[in-house]
Amino acid sequence: MANVAKRQFDAVIVGAGGAGMRAALQLSEAGLKTAVLSKVFPTRSHTVAAQGGISASLGNVQEDKWEWHMYDTVKGSDWLGDQDAIEFMCKTAPEAVIELEHFGMPFDRVESGRIYQRPFGGHTANFGEKPVQRACAAADRTGHALLHTLYQRNVRANTQFFVEWMALDLIRDADGDVVGVTALEMETGEVYVLHAKAVLFATGGAGRIYAASTNAFINTGDGLGMCARAGIPLEDMEFWQFHPTGVAGAGVLITEGVRGEGGILLNGNGERFMERYAPTLKDLAPRDFVSRCMALEVLEGRGAGKNKDHVLLKLDHLGPEVINHRLPSIREIAIKFAGVDPIKEPIPVIPTTHYQMGGIPTNYLGEVMVPKGDNPEVRVNGFYAAGECACASVHGANRLGTNSLLDLVVFGKSAGDSMIDFIKRERPVHKPLPENAADYSLSRIARLENQTGGEEVNDVRSAMQKTIQLRAGVFRNSENMALGVKEIAEVAERAKRTQIKDKSKVWNTARIEALELDNLIEAAVATMIAADARKESRGAHSHDDFQKRDDDNWMKHSLFFNHDRHLDYKPVHTKPLTVDYIPPKERTF
Ligand SMILES: Cc1cc2nc3c(=O)[nH]c(=O)nc-3n(C[C@H](O)[C@H](O)[C@H](O)COP(=O)(O)OP(=O)(O)OC[C@H]3O[C@@H](n4cnc5c(N)ncnc54)[C@H](O)[C@@H]3O)c2cc1C
Repeated sequence: MANVAKRQFDAVIVGAGGAGMRAALQLSEAGLKTAVLSKVFPTRSHTVAAQGGISASLGNVQEDKWEWHMYDTVKGSDWLGDQDAIEFMCKTAPEAVIELEHFGMPFDRVESGRIYQRPFGGHTANFGEKPVQRACAAADRTGHALLHTLYQRNVRANTQFFVEWMALDLIRDADGDVVGVTALEMETGEVYVLHAKAVLFATGGAGRIYAASTNAFINTGDGLGMCARAGIPLEDMEFWQFHPTGVAGAGVLITEGVRGEGGILLNGNGERFMERYAPTLKDLAPRDFVSRCMALEVLEGRGAGKNKDHVLLKLDHLGPEVINHRLPSIREIAIKFAGVDPIKEPIPVIPTTHYQMGGIPTNYLGEVMVPKGDNPEVRVNGFYAAGECACASVHGANRLGTNSLLDLVVFGKSAGDSMIDFIKRERPVHKPLPENAADYSLSRIARLENQTGGEEVNDVRSAMQKTIQLRAGVFRNSENMALGVKEIAEVAERAKRTQIKDKSKVWNTARIEALELDNLIEAAVATMIAADARKESRGAHSHDDFQKRDDDNWMKHSLFFNHDRHLDYKPVHTKPLTVDYIPPKERTF
């Protein structure tokens, strides 16, 4: 092997967001030597930006049941979610949230002293009868509170953090087992091999494949890229959530919690248009649905503003008390990014890319599962994934708000437990590294060092973002997506010839951006090809030429393989763990 420094751990976790930190806590507390890598300081991971809340049927404000939560999540997923995983998540939610409370997470409180809960899109009582207050919140900074709480617990548990380290590639041995990762220490530019008994990816989303996104700049889909290059397929990448309320022109998120607290959407004529589309849930219908209604209002000429290109989110009627107490950051964002004070004026908003429903295929134990022969789901030994980069799949074709923070802690913990079990029972000693463990990563870096006369990273990234924004948006059609497939293949070719002018080693951000682009491209290609292939409309995938959901032919998960860019499909899990199957029906709100 080339002369590369090696470090050994029981477990290596890539990502220090909510999912990575919840898993790390489980492992460290079990006494395992656990390393967590992060491109940024842990508490700057995107989880810190989550505003609205974390769902659990605690019933602190109104009667609630996990069975109702499960029903809403299945319906929200447009019947693409796996019902075993959904049952597991919704049933575990109350204990997961109370655990966070006991860890010291500073939730808001109701009169009785219990955790405050607000209504959120698609969350209902009694199987869709009326909105229910299920989102547990710490003002509009729930992710901030959650991430800081988990970080502190990890410090106490002696988790070892590798801050400003970028994982480059997954190391698989001749059996296909995962035995570690390669990583770049940004400060020195050195490449290391991290040898592990088990590896967890918790690298977050890839929202930056779009030009307009609520996501942090570091959300470049690194876990997806590393998997794709290592022969692991990506699941359901055609499904991207557009959040209804990004600040028009800026992309910054305005939480659905604003509508949970009573905010409403108005079109350019001052009409509360959601009453027309969703008579029961109105402004609190699920995100895919509200985003399409907003886009239709604009397309049909009822937008607001000089160019009639957005709609308005009105909350002044809530009064300064509620706004300052429950939504302080929202007021700040509106003043800073939209130039309006929501105590007096409505905020201009537009659907903005927010969340990837697809990702690395896992089961509800956090184990990565890939097809082998006739079996659609065989475990990859030593490899786990959780959080936004993973596809368990609880969100199916459309995620309900507040179900992601829940997903992080529920599956972060279950993945941690699975890893402990695997390490103790199946891999008590390290499996040897392959001879050439670092060669592939080193060759990628060498290519960048030696490339001359190539493409600028910025140009290629812009071309990719433009293509995805234009060809895989809120409304899709065959002609447009076919063009997208062709264009993204061209962009991917250009990405093979990127060059950087700065060849220095210390803190070379140009090199890091070039390596991130490799990952973005994998996610973008998978998105475009999977979207073009799905000939139906389901959840966030709204196809003008196939406007109905087609359960006979398309109730199945897509799997994208990068080596020859082909798609395979696997069945949706229709058997919950203990309760009855929730059969498909039409989604009305
Ligand atoms: C603005 C905003 C508001 C949101 N609000 C809510 C909400 O109210 N409720 C809700 O349920 N959901 C919300 N979501 C969604 C939710 O916050 C995210 O899905 C979730 O936080 C993702 O957590 P994660 O642990 O998977 O990843 P992240 O928190 O994104 O963390 C990813 C980690 O991986 C690391 N990483 C990535 N690549 C590498 C690499 N190559 N090497 C080393 N480290 C790497 C990063 O440094 C980071 O530490 C919101 C999302 C956004 C963008």
